[in-house]
Formats: sequence, structure tokens, C-alpha cells
Amino acid sequence: MVIDFLRGQENCAVWPACNRSYSAALRPALLTEQFLEFDVARPLKKPAHCGERSKAMADADKGVIPSSGKPETKLLDELENGPWPSFVTEIKSASGATGGAEDLLGQLELSYEDKVSHWKHGGLVGVLGYGGGVIGRYSDVGEQFPKVAHFHTLRVNQPAGWFYTSEALRTISDIWERHGSGLTNMHGSTGDIILLGTTTNHLEATFQELTHAGFDLGGSGSAVRTPSCCVGMARCEWACFDAMKLCYDLTMAYQDELHRPALPYKFKIKCAACPNDCVAAIARADLSVIGTWKDDIRIDQDEGANYAAAGVDIQKDICANCPTKCMDWDGKELSINNRDCVRCMHCINAMPKALRPGVEKGAVILIGAKAPILQGALLSSVLIPFVAADELLDTLKELIQRIWDFWDEYGTNRERIGELIQRVGLAAFLDGIGLDPAPEMVSAPRDNPYIYYQPAKEDEA
Ligand code: SF4
Repeated sequence: MVIDFLRGQENCAVWPACNRSYSAALRPALLTEQFLEFDVARPLKKPAHCGERSKAMADADKGVIPSSGKPETKLLDELENGPWPSFVTEIKSASGATGGAEDLLGQLELSYEDKVSHWKHGGLVGVLGYGGGVIGRYSDVGEQFPKVAHFHTLRVNQPAGWFYTSEALRTISDIWERHGSGLTNMHGSTGDIILLGTTTNHLEATFQELTHAGFDLGGSGSAVRTPSCCVGMARCEWACFDAMKLCYDLTMAYQDELHRPALPYKFKIKCAACPNDCVAAIARADLSVIGTWKDDIRIDQDEGANYAAAGVDIQKDICANCPTKCMDWDGKELSINNRDCVRCMHCINAMPKALRPGVEKGAVILIGAKAPILQGALLSSVLIPFVAADELLDTLKELIQRIWDFWDEYGTNRERIGELIQRVGLAAFLDGIGLDPAPEMVSAPRDNPYIYYQPAKEDEA
């Protein structure tokens, strides 16, 4: 109720004496801070920034436009101290066509002074034929910093495994210096190349040049986000399937869903070729494909003995750290009870010459992870315990279609698939997509109350 009340106010509602008038875009950003300080049992306390206007804002009220020349960045300059790389130094060195770097620093300094963001949320901008790939961003102090009044971000589909030639990187940089701020983020959390900051009139030209150079925009909004993967078989000996090929095939298969948002909300697909999960799929992707093996860990006993001779305490450092305690070292030979192994990779990472994944390779498919935005963070749950490597693409296409049909039918606006599963229950979701529950969906007995096993065979007997 307090939030609704605050949303309706033109002026600061918590501190009525405050003269400061917040723009409609700025008010929601202030709500949390004001709400936290709001306590009906105590006299109202003046929020730290209330009533204080920064010098730059006061200048703007008087019509002073300080966009030429270097902005004063006393607070930001502090971030250049110390031994670490500084994004402030990098922004100072940028020189794109839009000349936005200095105004960007000026606005950021103002945000540090005011303790609020001066970016308005979202806005609809894009390029012809695509519904995604461009994230609209506008400044709410655009009169003071006209070169970042529009500061749209482009997401560019990265190559699988993030392998570039230096020529490709130069091409992207040249296009972005011609049309944008010159600032990039390599890479965003989805995996795309992020081109930070351009104006609306540069969008089409940037898009045309990127596509002619062989690049494409990635996903944004309620679309399939650009699928991403680890380097897989290109560099890693533990890869249990070709993650780069699968990622490429999925990207090509879902071009329409990637470029034209048609889902209840974003849908991220990440492929990690072994359980080390170097793309952190299990914590971030709506659909995770994580390499694993079905048979026994391969053991080279001679190499194991070499590790012991070199001083590795195999019993203490390897066997005792196995999460299921399924390993044993008798001083000469290593043995593994593979039925109890949960494919955590600890022992293989620790003794790579002595241990290798089995030969029957494939992947486990998991569902439902997300970072906190509307609701809290979720980790993935197992959906299919094992799919052979050569059946992955067909299985995933069939499965994804069933998941989307269910999500389309029962998902609410901006509800991630993991949140929908939490709301309706895993049993209803599995029923809806036509999958039978499997023991691997439950990490410990009675851990998941949503799965029921019907004693059908006992009844028949
Ligand atoms: Fe144990 Fe993990 Fe090695 Fe399996 S992979 S044997 S669970 S340490």
C-alpha cells in the first residue's frame, strides 16, 4: 500500500517537506530506498539525498549545458586508484562517433553524487524486421548530457565458444567506432558481444554493417536469448559432446524465436560439455545441457601410482573429498564404486592423467535456473538424466517445443519457466510435457515433495 501510495506522488512522499520533484522514471528507483527508511512508528527521517541538489542539476535548472570539455569526475577518479584495472580509465580512453564517453562519465559522476541511477528504464527501439537485439536506454538528465540522451545497447550474437580472429574483432570495433560510443562489454552474462551506447538514428546503419560483416543481433526481451556454450571439444579433453556444434545448431534452429520475442519471458539455453560446467549453466540457464557419461570412470593405475610417488596423498586429498565416498586407495590401486559416483569431476580434475570420463558419453538436461530479477534465484532441476551425444539435437528440439507449449498455455507475463514450475509443481509440469519422473530428479530421498511414484508394478503383481 505504501508502495502504491509512493508511486502516485509527484513529490517525495516520505519526506513531504522535501522540495525535490522526481521525474516519473526516477521515482520507482527511489522507492526501495525510501521504503526502507519508512517506519510508521517513528517520526519521519529525512533520506540522505532528499532536498539536496547536485551542482550539475542546479546548473541544468538554470539552463547551463556543460557537455563540452572534460566533466569533473572527482568521485569516479577514486575508482582509478589501486592496482586493479578501472572501467573509468577505459571509458576515458574511448572515442566513438557519438562522442558519448565524456557525457557518460559526467552522468555517472552525477549518479554517484545523487545516489540514484539517471537511466530511465527501457523504452522501445529496434531495427527493421527484428523485435529483439537492441535495448533502449534513455537518460533522465539528457539536457545536461546530450550525447548520452539516447544510449542504446546492441547485443551481437557471439560465435560458439567465443573464438574470434583478430580481423573479426577489428571489424566489430571499427563498426562501433563509426556508429557508437566505442565502448564494448566482452561479454554480457548471456554471452553476447555488448555494444554499449548509440543513438536511435545510428541503429539501422550499425545493424546493416554488422550483418554485411557476417554478424547477427542476439536475443533480448521475451525472446530466446543467444544460446551459449563452453569451448567444448575445441580445447577441452573432458568434453562429453560437441557443445559448440550443438550451440550453433540450436541458434540456427531458433532464429525466429531469437529475433522476434514471442514467449512469456526470456529463455536461456546454455551448453556445457562436461560437469565442470564452465558456462555456469546450472545456475543461470532456463535449459541447461551438461555433458556427462553413463559408464565407468577410466582409470590408469600406473599414472595413479605416479601421482602417489610425486607426493599426492590420494586417500586424503582425493578419496576423502569425493562427495559420495565411493573411491578407495589401498596404497597401490584406486577403486571406484561407479554406481555411487555423481559425476562431480573432483577426482578427474585432481588427477587428470590417471582418471578420465567413461566412453559412453552424452548429456544431462536440466531446467529452471535463473538469476534474481522479479523473484529470487533458482538452480536447475534434472529433467532428463542422460541423452546420448548423437541424439541430443533431436531430443532437445522435441523437448523444447513441449516446454514452450506448456509455458505458453500456463505461464503469466514475465514468468520464467523455473518460476512457473515452482508455481504449478514439478509433477504437473512433467505431466504437462509428457515426461515420466525419474529417480535422478530427486537429489536425496524425500527431498522433493512434488514427485510421486505410482506403485503400478507392485499392484499388477
Ligand atoms: Fe567421486 Fe566425483 Fe570422482 Fe565420482 S567424479 S568418483 S563422485 S569424486
